[in-house]
Amino acid sequence: MTTFLGMPATSPRGVGHLRGDEPFPVAAHRALADDQLRRNLRHATTTIRGKSGRVIAELPDWQELRSAGSAIKADVMSRLPSLLEELEARVVERGGVVHWAADANEANAIVTGLVKQTGSDRVIKVKSMATQEIALNEALEAAGIQAVETDLAELIVQLGNDKPSHILVPAIHRNRSEIREIFLAAMPGVDPALTDDPPVLAAAARKYLRETFLSTTVAISGANFGIAETGTLAVVESEGNGRMCLTLPETLITVMGIEKVVPTWQDLEVFLQLLPRASTGERMNPYTTMWTGVTPGDGPQNFHLVLLDNGRSAVLADEAGRSALHCIRCSACLNVCPVYERTGGHAYGSVYPGPIGAVLSPQLTGVEDNASLPFASSLCGACFDACPVKIDIPSILVHLRNKAPHKAAERAAMRVAAYTMDRPELYARAQRAAKLARIAGRRGRGLPLGWNEARDLPEIPEQTFRDWWASR
Ligand code: SF4
Repeated sequence: MTTFLGMPATSPRGVGHLRGDEPFPVAAHRALADDQLRRNLRHATTTIRGKSGRVIAELPDWQELRSAGSAIKADVMSRLPSLLEELEARVVERGGVVHWAADANEANAIVTGLVKQTGSDRVIKVKSMATQEIALNEALEAAGIQAVETDLAELIVQLGNDKPSHILVPAIHRNRSEIREIFLAAMPGVDPALTDDPPVLAAAARKYLRETFLSTTVAISGANFGIAETGTLAVVESEGNGRMCLTLPETLITVMGIEKVVPTWQDLEVFLQLLPRASTGERMNPYTTMWTGVTPGDGPQNFHLVLLDNGRSAVLADEAGRSALHCIRCSACLNVCPVYERTGGHAYGSVYPGPIGAVLSPQLTGVEDNASLPFASSLCGACFDACPVKIDIPSILVHLRNKAPHKAAERAAMRVAAYTMDRPELYARAQRAAKLARIAGRRGRGLPLGWNEARDLPEIPEQTFRDWWASR
């Protein structure tokens, strides 16, 4: 049977970066032992949190904006197929070509084929989570095509043969002396006298990238938003590299997750206020590039839009989990998460780290393939409070914990507990038995699943509520 876009299939195994090589606790344990990593993370997340908090406090209607963003996204999910068809029709009317990719394999094949048709063996890229998710760079490389990341942090990650560890600040785990080492080792034409002064490092990247921008004819981007009523795509960024990629080349290929569609232009009014404040702590992001199909004589003359499913329809099919698709990738939930701040992004194994990764990755892959991620949280709720589109991440985490595979002994223990709690007489007898166990000094011992390894069983009281009640 063939899988079509829109059928609720999860992301296929063996391709892309949604699954880690090891469970979260194992990877987190290693990350926690890295003092430098923890210092870098603490500094970066604290700085971004402070900046973001200050500019959010300037807006008296922040909560109303959050509610509006949440409502727009819920509306989008309720009529996603028709909005996508509307977007397709408008893009085609304006001279673009739309491709539908059911999964990572299809998307990679489509993009690789399109680049080959141009005859180019090099592409420039705007930072894009969707293309990282499907491992597009690796697919291009296998086809003999070099992909050059043009976002500075993404370039650092690429030259260091590394993986991004933050949605917005992919090289958050690197400090400036490490970046200098990476540039000296891998950046073509770099000055051997390079210092670790940030302006000097930025100038070195700028020189290398300018030459690449001016000599490459194909660009690949993601999209922050796709506007159904006009067929307009939007990318927001801070460095201007996106603007160069989206305007200079002859051919532009955009890979967009199907959840990024919004109904109207006016909806951007909400998201362009929410996104920069929640992500980089800016009132407005420095560069917002929008384009609609092809404009003769101005910008790329060939435009392809690849609409990517890769498990999103499966997320949409789950009523309790689908709001994870509302995410606008601002990374605010990462910056406030006590777990992320200590482990960093690599421990999550997926390109989507932190709280949003803990709910999105298991849904895209099927919970069994990322079973430890829903447990990578203290359920403190800070992510929910910080999310500019009000995604209730803690509730989705609990929902996914229930769906995750559990050990047979745990399942059996829960069945016994449910049976007992359902029957008052039996429950009273169990309480009496627990009291006896306490007197016998067996507190915590004999609990199933090693629960008492990580937490203490509360002291069982001398008198139960039932006894207290009966005595009166
Ligand atoms: S879940 Fe919310 S806070 Fe986290 S990245 Fe997405 S939009 Fe931002």
